[in-house]
Amino acid sequence: MASTIGDVLHRYAIEKREAQMLFAHVLGVSRASVIAHSERTLDVVQECLADQLLARRAAGEPIAYLIGLREFYGRDFLVSPATLIPRPETELIVEQALARLSGHCLPVTPVGIGSTSIDASPSVLDLGTGSGAIAVSIALERPNIAVVATDFSSDALTVAAENARRLNAIVEFVESNWYQDLAGRKFDLIVSNPPYVAGNDVHLSQGDLRFEPQTALTDKSPDGLASIRAIVFGAPPHLKAGGWLLFEHGYDQSDACSELLLKAGFVNLTSVNDLAGIARVAGGQIR
Ligand code: GLN
Repeated sequence: MASTIGDVLHRYAIEKREAQMLFAHVLGVSRASVIAHSERTLDVVQECLADQLLARRAAGEPIAYLIGLREFYGRDFLVSPATLIPRPETELIVEQALARLSGHCLPVTPVGIGSTSIDASPSVLDLGTGSGAIAVSIALERPNIAVVATDFSSDALTVAAENARRLNAIVEFVESNWYQDLAGRKFDLIVSNPPYVAGNDVHLSQGDLRFEPQTALTDKSPDGLASIRAIVFGAPPHLKAGGWLLFEHGYDQSDACSELLLKAGFVNLTSVNDLAGIARVAGGQIR
């Protein structure tokens, strides 16, 4: 006899909300519809797909990879095991970036009558873009800003470029290990959510993190700061005068990040707490 949503749901010990999201994905309907019709019967293909997805979730695979999407800054982003799953706290980087770009909202001024050239648009660089969540969100919120996004992983860039295409964002993607392939390019703002989990952190072998690209989570340095060091010390030649650097860091790295920023010559240091009250974003301005 054909099984209902409720029948399949009872086979797996997973959170009800997540099971409903997986059914919504399989059936191509909203979660509300799944909730309202738990007696709906599934055809053989639907039951098989739902069984597979619920079993994979029960084995620990992140829900975002199973449905291929994660919401970030009010939009759905494609994610794959080639990309980190965007976290809510990373929206802080977008907020902080937008606040600093608001002075740049005015339309760019033509240089002269009959001239096709215009003032260089204000520009933002997102280092290690992953799914492109930060870069695409900034590009969509400030369409007159030129956004460049890098990643050393071509697989991640494929996902990021697809997100930009689906969401109609204009972003230039560059395959680059931090600043390596950006010689001579300068920006008004550099943002990044780099790997910062310490190499020996037990969380790397727990929960969703087990399934995420390890290179996006950790650079394997004992203090987790090797990538942040490279980003901070590499930033000044790539920033215009008065330009800002903003990046995410780990729960216990705020003081170390301030020290690095000072050493690299940044002023007007900033530290922003996440919703849990933990210092999560550091930044500074270059003279
Ligand atoms: N915030 C993530 C975590 O600890 C890590 C993301 C990162 O390293 N950028 O789960």
